[in-house]
Amino acid sequence: MVLRRPGSYLYAATARDIDASHTAKYGILGCMEQVHPSHQQEQLAPFKLAPYYSTRVWGFEDLAPWFEKKAAPGEPIGEAWLTGPDSIVASGDLAGQKFAAVVKQHAQAILGSAFASEGEYPLLIKVLFPREKLSVQVHPDDVLAQQKGEPRGKTECWYILESEPGAKVALGLKPGVTPDAVRSAIEDKSLEDLLGWVPVEAGDMVYVDAGTVHAIWPGVVILETQQTSDTTYRLYDYGRPRELHVEASIEAMRVETAAGKIAPEAGTQGESVLVDKTYFRVERWPHKTEALYAAVAATQDPQLLFVVEGALQVTGEGFEPFTLNRCELAVIPAHALAWKLGGDAEVMRILPQGGSVERSAQIVA
Ligand SMILES: [Zn+2]
Repeated sequence: MVLRRPGSYLYAATARDIDASHTAKYGILGCMEQVHPSHQQEQLAPFKLAPYYSTRVWGFEDLAPWFEKKAAPGEPIGEAWLTGPDSIVASGDLAGQKFAAVVKQHAQAILGSAFASEGEYPLLIKVLFPREKLSVQVHPDDVLAQQKGEPRGKTECWYILESEPGAKVALGLKPGVTPDAVRSAIEDKSLEDLLGWVPVEAGDMVYVDAGTVHAIWPGVVILETQQTSDTTYRLYDYGRPRELHVEASIEAMRVETAAGKIAPEAGTQGESVLVDKTYFRVERWPHKTEALYAAVAATQDPQLLFVVEGALQVTGEGFEPFTLNRCELAVIPAHALAWKLGGDAEVMRILPQGGSVERSAQIVA
């Protein structure tokens, strides 16, 4: 994974390890400078984030046992944004600051050279709590989103944290359904019949690429990983009075997509690779803290750790240690101060994939 981008090892060595004596010893400054001219790479301590809670008509007023948060009466919470722009740093020197501001100010340290030009954290991680049916919606891909002036489209994936019997999600259209059939089904309020329904249960990973018509129904708690994007077109709302974006949806939707449940693959250290696609890689580490730490420390990319169960201790030089409890998320900067991981927890590790170089190549293609 580290070798995905040519030169990333060289870059990492430049940032972390090369000093004058090193250079004198190995005489490699010249070639290093072409890879990255800066010798002053800022390093940042890992830190945890407190969620931003998003009010949604279809949410809950009490998020126990997942989060301690209680909503104001009549203002149910549907989403806990773990890496949203308004999430708050909850440990260390930057505590109290908004995540968006911290990422802007420390873009190189947090995102590394591949993602620094994104200007924001490229992945948005949320926990979703639907108490009612979520609208049927679709997101544009990068090309369409950028034609409309947005920075990126939205491909997402859903890890099912909890499910009730009979839980299901809609992924794409049934075979043979045409855009005209979609239009008339919206008018006579029968679009559900044209969707491909997929049963889900706890532990499933569902991939939802941009252009896939999709809906989440109640009976699940979902850890969602998505490209950071606000662009959602609502195609259908079961006759509820919220605004629809039918023509934009039909322009963005694709009749055939790659969406579906993904079977986990065994990693090399006891982890499960749940999804590994263009924009993100998500792994589940079942109580393998030492192996997880070794894997995280060997990776020179931005990383996120989310605790599903148990607790992790993050310690290191030059920063206050902190504990990551259930449902808490830590940001591991691409250029991190020396740190260690202890404790015992089941953890999701989430990595953005691609970066600006690869993405602009895709857009040209
Ligand atoms: Zn979506």
